[in-house]
Amino acid sequence: MPNSPVRRPARPRFFQGPSRRLVGVFVLFILLPGAFLGVFALRVLRQEGQLARQRTRERLERTAEEIGRDLNSEFRRWTDAARTAAVAKTFDAGSFPEIIRRALLEPGGGVYLTTSEGGLEAFPAGALLYAPPGMGPDRTLPSRVPAGLAEAESLEIAREDYPKAIRAYRSLLDSTGAELRPLVLQRLARTLRKARKTEEAAGAYRELQRLDAVWIGGLPSDLIAQSELCSLAAEGGDSVGLSQAALAFYRDLTAGKWLLDKPRYLFYSDRCRTWCRESLATPDEFGRVRGIEERKLALSRAAEDLLGQPRGVFFGKPGAHLAFWNADPLAMVVISADFLESRWWPQLLSTRGEDLEGSLFTPDGRTVFGSSRSETPPLAVTHDFRVDDTPWLLQVWPVQPETIYADIRQRQALSIGMLGFVVLLLAFGSYITVRIVRRELEIARLRADFVSTVSHEFRSPLTGIRQLGGMLLDGRVTDPAKQQGYFKMIVQESDRLARLIENILDFSRMEEGRREYRFEPLDLTAWLRKLAADFEAEIAVAGASVEADIPDGLPAMSADREALGSAVRNLLDNAVKYSPGAKTVWLDAATGGGEIRIAVRDRGVGISEQDRKHIFDRFYRADGEISKRVKGAGLGLSLVRYIVTAHGGTVECQSAVGEGSTFTIRLPAAPAKGGG
Ligand code: ADP
Repeated sequence: MPNSPVRRPARPRFFQGPSRRLVGVFVLFILLPGAFLGVFALRVLRQEGQLARQRTRERLERTAEEIGRDLNSEFRRWTDAARTAAVAKTFDAGSFPEIIRRALLEPGGGVYLTTSEGGLEAFPAGALLYAPPGMGPDRTLPSRVPAGLAEAESLEIAREDYPKAIRAYRSLLDSTGAELRPLVLQRLARTLRKARKTEEAAGAYRELQRLDAVWIGGLPSDLIAQSELCSLAAEGGDSVGLSQAALAFYRDLTAGKWLLDKPRYLFYSDRCRTWCRESLATPDEFGRVRGIEERKLALSRAAEDLLGQPRGVFFGKPGAHLAFWNADPLAMVVISADFLESRWWPQLLSTRGEDLEGSLFTPDGRTVFGSSRSETPPLAVTHDFRVDDTPWLLQVWPVQPETIYADIRQRQALSIGMLGFVVLLLAFGSYITVRIVRRELEIARLRADFVSTVSHEFRSPLTGIRQLGGMLLDGRVTDPAKQQGYFKMIVQESDRLARLIENILDFSRMEEGRREYRFEPLDLTAWLRKLAADFEAEIAVAGASVEADIPDGLPAMSADREALGSAVRNLLDNAVKYSPGAKTVWLDAATGGGEIRIAVRDRGVGISEQDRKHIFDRFYRADGEISKRVKGAGLGLSLVRYIVTAHGGTVECQSAVGEGSTFTIRLPAAPAKGGG
């Protein structure tokens, strides 16, 4: 029989013909709209973010405005309080708003200054450390002096006759009334000191300290006494005595016990500090008193400055001070900005339910409340307002701007996530589509090639029959044995043709789901043995044989005899076809584990692992030389699988290239009936 070469279907190249169109359609209708949708969605997201930011900013601006209004009305309330107190001409801390009252009662927190007949007065007493100009009476030496004082002084100063002077002062002391006693006592103590009677001098100063003070030469007598006692202790090297005396003196001085003028205050304050340091006075107590002094000094400086020219704020060191005043009659409240910032400012900021920070500053950029920053904090909004003649700038910003944007970001993240998911889905869908289309294209291609292969398949047996028949008809073959052989070959070729047609019909029926199975009881052993014998008779001409190992008593089963026969035959056909040179193929059957195994084995060319994955697919033919030489339509194994599946079984292939293959059909011992 002529064995003309079979054209193996070429694998379709994807980017060809319809594929290119497909890619165009994909790009135009999926990729481009998808990309457009993505860009559009991102833009919308960004816009939404901007809008949310804008809304946040507006809300913050409104809040800043409200806080500014509060601040403004509070400042006015404080000015009014100063005015009311000035008109009432009495000082009553209780009539001031709460925060001012607290400031006035705190050392260095604030002071209320007003004019009265006696001049300028400060409340509470002791709030200031020294008297601003125009404040406090000029308290000098009492106008009345005891008779004989001048004489005693001349003994002390002009003649430097201290013993006489001491006697003179002592006799004066006995005759002088309580009012002028401190004056004489101070002279006596001074002279005793000059006369180096240290102990007695100290005693006299101690007594002077206990008496009601009178002002001598611009200084209160008890201050003189305390100062001299310190001085004596220092001279005598009495460190313990000095530390006690100096601390007590410093405490009195900073408590505002005496309202001295500024130079005197600074002089004595300086001396006190020197003594305290020299005598190693208790550092904690010294530090505490020093702290109070610093705050009060700052307040005193602010009061001094603001009284000279009333205005809203005084920037001193350390810290700023605010002033609220009434011009006539003059009354002024001066409050430490530090005090307000620690006790009142955070509350004011937190009343709006937002976690805000803020600063108040003057238009020239100097900060009154809040920290001054070189950079504007994120989301900061500024609001300006004016109280009387003073302009203010208020700036507020959220403590944690990130949390304000947290939910915007969360929504954005969600949308982006969803967008990403859609893109992924799109990509996955596209991948699947491409795969399916690719597969379909391949099948279309294979189908086209199938037609040419099948016509070829038909042609070769027909040509054989035609030639053999012709020779017999012409009487060219006379030998009866030869004639017999030719007839046999004609029958075989016809059978092959019939099987091929049957396969094609079966295939098309199965493809369309029209194949019906007629299940009937089957004696497997007998049936398989007959099938093997028939097949062997067919292939004997070609010198091949089947070695069948079919045990007795295989379980009877229900099957479509014809279909199952066709499946086993296809396997046997393949075994012979793909074993060039080998003369034997094997058919084994076995049972066990609830299944029946029918195995067809050969020692042929074998099948590569790559091809094994596809050989059961319709129209598939393995690569390789053998496929070119051996005829086939790529339908046999797909039919086998159809039929075996319909019988509730499976078919598998084990193979090694160059060694041979084994195809095993596994059927359940009692298969489901009527599958399809
Ligand atoms: P064909 O008509 O090509 O034989 P089949 O569906 O029966 O179609 O087989 C598909 C392919 O599987 C064959 O083209 C061949 O490459 C391979 N094949 C099938 N059986 C064997 C076998 N016993 N030995 C080697 N290759 C085989």
